[in-house]
Amino acid sequence: MTESTTIRWEQDDTGVVTLVLDDPNQSANTMNQAFRDSLAAITDRLEAEQDSIRGIIFTSAKKTFFAGGDLRDLIRVTPETAQELFDGGLAIKRNLRRIETLGKPVVAAINGAALGGGFELALACHHRVALDTSGTKIGCPEVTLGLLPGGGGVVRTVRLLGIADALLKVLLQGTQYNARRAQENGLVHEVAATPEELLTKARAFVDANPESQQPWDKPGYKIPGGTPANPKFAANLPAFPATLRKQTNGAPYPAPRNILAAAVEGAQVDFETAQVIEARYFVELAAGQTSKNMIQAFFFDLQAVNSGANRPKGIEPRQVRKVAVLGAGMMGAGIAYSCARAGIDVVLKDVSLESAVKGKGYSEKLCAKAVAKGRTSQEKADALLARITPTAEAADLAGCDAVIEAVFEDTTLKHKVFQEIEAVVAPDALLCSNTSTLPITALAEGVERQTDFIGLHFFSPVDKMPLVEIIKGERTGDEALARAFDLVRQINKTPIVVNDSRGFFTSRVIGHFINEGVAMVGEGIEPASVEQAAAQAGYPAKVLSLMDELTLTLPRKIRNETKRAVEEAGGTWSAHPAEAVIDRMVDEFGRTGRSGAAGFYDYAEDGKRAGLWPGLREHFTRPGSEIPFRDMQERMLFSEALDTVRLLEEGVLTSVADANIGSVFGIGFPGWTGGVLQYINGYEGGLSGFVARARELAERYGDRFTPPALLVEKAEKGERFSDSAGS
Ligand code: NAD
Repeated sequence: MTESTTIRWEQDDTGVVTLVLDDPNQSANTMNQAFRDSLAAITDRLEAEQDSIRGIIFTSAKKTFFAGGDLRDLIRVTPETAQELFDGGLAIKRNLRRIETLGKPVVAAINGAALGGGFELALACHHRVALDTSGTKIGCPEVTLGLLPGGGGVVRTVRLLGIADALLKVLLQGTQYNARRAQENGLVHEVAATPEELLTKARAFVDANPESQQPWDKPGYKIPGGTPANPKFAANLPAFPATLRKQTNGAPYPAPRNILAAAVEGAQVDFETAQVIEARYFVELAAGQTSKNMIQAFFFDLQAVNSGANRPKGIEPRQVRKVAVLGAGMMGAGIAYSCARAGIDVVLKDVSLESAVKGKGYSEKLCAKAVAKGRTSQEKADALLARITPTAEAADLAGCDAVIEAVFEDTTLKHKVFQEIEAVVAPDALLCSNTSTLPITALAEGVERQTDFIGLHFFSPVDKMPLVEIIKGERTGDEALARAFDLVRQINKTPIVVNDSRGFFTSRVIGHFINEGVAMVGEGIEPASVEQAAAQAGYPAKVLSLMDELTLTLPRKIRNETKRAVEEAGGTWSAHPAEAVIDRMVDEFGRTGRSGAAGFYDYAEDGKRAGLWPGLREHFTRPGSEIPFRDMQERMLFSEALDTVRLLEEGVLTSVADANIGSVFGIGFPGWTGGVLQYINGYEGGLSGFVARARELAERYGDRFTPPALLVEKAEKGERFSDSAGS
């Protein structure tokens, strides 16, 4: 019988039943069919044998307490199978409800991650004790996968914390708390230091509360903070849609909207009806496209990328002990911090000791902030800082087993700094450049050991950005690729792997987004609408403000270099309409971007944006030049997606998962799409629908929207872009 394995029944002679979650077929417990069957059988048995039962403790035999809904099942839900999901979900909820109202104390002994369904199971318990380990994470991250907690999580967090706290602390952001912070925020009652203490505390609750009940089942219970029926609460209701707008920026994320509705509607009805309301909103999300996009990218693709689907096989993993960071500017300083945080010794070198010390100052600032906010201890911060040695002397790099170069973006300079240090560092040191645009193969020509040379493209700000783009040059060896991959994982970042090309994947593709926005200004479209289109498409940065941040002279420099390279190779350069706009901005109006205090925006003296430059309307805007808002958004999204397909055709990209993860984590492609190629998969009408729409855009706005052959071919064969598990 399934109950004996998936949920194991262990009863002691004092009448305490420990229900051990231990799915025999998976490394983590999930709400799959076996669990549903097992829970139903267990519930029947608890009711049947209640006279001999004194209390119930849920705990797990796995590393995680309970992982939540089975995403492999969820990603396959269609509108046709939605009823099945609705019924299955409701069955679990009703069984948990039967256990919570049995009249016996029910305790969750949370001995690892309890996220999503795991936390929902714990919420159905009267008392929650969490083990204080690094693996214990508690919360409802469903919103980050386009879903809502459909196992009673909305209903119970609202009744536990009140609508406002439930929404803001748990449901809308999907925050994952460690044991202590979960306790501070009222999500668990107690914290235990050891597994033994965990069970002792669970038992102590059973002993002390023989007739325990949930707060919401006690007479006279009211939802904390009131409900919409209460006039004082109702006066605050309009604040929620405003919070929502702030969170989604008007982009098509249906989950926050459904969460809000389930919470507010569910607070006004009885518990059972609230569970049904929650189930309806959950199933609507699960059957929709956005959750599929997000589950594909943020679960399956991310897992494939991080687990090394692209790491060469058969090469022993290696850890870096001491890294040389060359250049202590914005990027070098951030790279030094990230490496030191991961326990690696760092020698940070710049042209003068003063500059190197200044670079280390960045880590000092980040550490002080982390200590002040209670995110780390003074002791750990001191240890991190002690690992960074600033210097101007090449000799100090002796013994470094990896080098990460982050000096100015100039091939001759990069060659020179590698020559200075190649003979000093370990004889087999990994040699990495953080260039954002220069081809790696040409940079490698500046070193003796070209097989050990590789691109390691970080994103700014390094301490926050999770992605690193690894670029394999023509002569880069598999050993170097494997070591670069291991180094990126060692510093807890996500590595994608691409082949060498000008701008690689990320820099080249983000250029299309920016060019499209700038081109629209040149066509006379209202600049504020262009910005709004980017925001509502879900881009984290508005397009013209991003151009200003990067400075307008940068694309000119890259364009000139690329043009020269194309022409030298015998090709012809086809100019993008954005080029003329940028030339006018720089040459005619002297506006080079934020660093020059004037760009598409005006800037106040303190450097803050002070509104779009009124001159844009004067010099570029033409009445009657509006185009549909949807075209504006799709010109940006399509320009990036189409070039990504070209990069697959060219062999620069070799993995769909890398493209999806790289686009969202590195260059701000909207998360609701699940990444740049999943956007094509999920487009209305699939690949054929996308091809038809691209042709329409090509006709209206130019050849750059013509779908590449690979896309047309896949559409004709009825295929989709996919190389990791999932849908
Ligand atoms: P930066 O101007 O802030 O820093 C460059 C640093 O290199 C300066 O501190 C400079 O003193 C130092 N330097 C110059 N010559 C040196 C030498 N001979 N030896 C040691 N140090 C020397 O530049 P940055 O923004 O940190 O960019 C550095 C590199 O990272 C560039 O190749 C850039 O393309 C790349 N990159 C930048 C970004 C970004 O967002 N800024 C993102 C990814 C990659």
